[in-house]
Amino acid sequence: DQPLHTPERLPDDPDAALRPKSLTEFIGQEAARENLGVFIAAAKTRGEAMDHTLFFGPPGLGKTTLAQIVARELGAGFRSTSGPVIAKAGDLAALLTNLEPHDVLFIDEIHRLNPVVEEVLYPAMEDRALDLMIGEGPSARSVRIDLPPFTLIGATTRQGLLTTPLRDRFGIPVRLNFYTHEELERVVTRGANKLGLSIQPDGAREIARRSRGTPRVAGRLLRRVRDFASVDNAPSITAQVADSALTKLEVDSLGLDAMDRRYLTMIAETYGGGPVGIETLAAGLAEPRDTLEDVVEPFLIQLGLVARTARGRCLNPGGWKHLGLDSPAPQAP
Ligand code: ADP
Repeated sequence: DQPLHTPERLPDDPDAALRPKSLTEFIGQEAARENLGVFIAAAKTRGEAMDHTLFFGPPGLGKTTLAQIVARELGAGFRSTSGPVIAKAGDLAALLTNLEPHDVLFIDEIHRLNPVVEEVLYPAMEDRALDLMIGEGPSARSVRIDLPPFTLIGATTRQGLLTTPLRDRFGIPVRLNFYTHEELERVVTRGANKLGLSIQPDGAREIARRSRGTPRVAGRLLRRVRDFASVDNAPSITAQVADSALTKLEVDSLGLDAMDRRYLTMIAETYGGGPVGIETLAAGLAEPRDTLEDVVEPFLIQLGLVARTARGRCLNPGGWKHLGLDSPAPQAP
């Protein structure tokens, strides 16, 4: 059973129906949208492929959606794959040689490319060429194959996860940020309309407030609230209907879920508020370090509940307060 509230993609992606299809339909991320609009228009005017683009930011903020929108607005084809899926250099070569001119190739989790595969990508991005080794041993030789002009769009949770040579080959780096409550309210209202649900503005606001700044979470919570509303025969989703459902789902007033609270509680109760190292926390919580760093921590840091310091993670006064605990008196040095 998948956890309800993680912003990570589920295998059977119910998000697909809710995806915005154009830059104007895409809510929030003003800076990214404006810049992309310019680069798309410029590439079309010149009749060229758009420069390679890297989207980075926590899961569920719209990286895949934006990549699809860019392809659609360029009037180009869209091919999609992900870093861990490309096992061999030959797999990537096959993908690249099958591209049509100006196609967008989207590689999700691009930081998880195997290093041998990544090497193939460098000349492909820079010179639009593939260097393939033919044969083995002394008779082996390298042949160069030209590729059509294409746009690589990579997605990753943190820019720093990419190797420097890969990062340097993206002409357009785009950071995606957490959404405001107002933006998420629009996401929820739009989603409810698409799903044919009746929702009150205060109901949309309540779901938005508790969606962890993340449209994917907003969509998922909306679907769960709908379930509660239909079982309870509620004619419309009001703040009260939403609150009662979200409380049953253990989504708290700030939108934190059970995992977030376990993380905060461990720093508070086991480590006296920190500093505590990320590896120690990962072991204590039995969660992969990556999940903590990419999924759990960014939002808690954004809320100011936790701080990442050189000596480890520390609970801020707001973190203590949210747990309903007294922060310890500052210790004498
Ligand atoms: P990522 O690739 O960053 O993990 P996705 O692009 O898959 O995120 O987005 C997750 C879901 O959230 C999408 O299916 C879409 O329904 C919704 N979504 C994301 N960004 C927006 C947005 N700006 N406006 C409306 N819905 C959005």
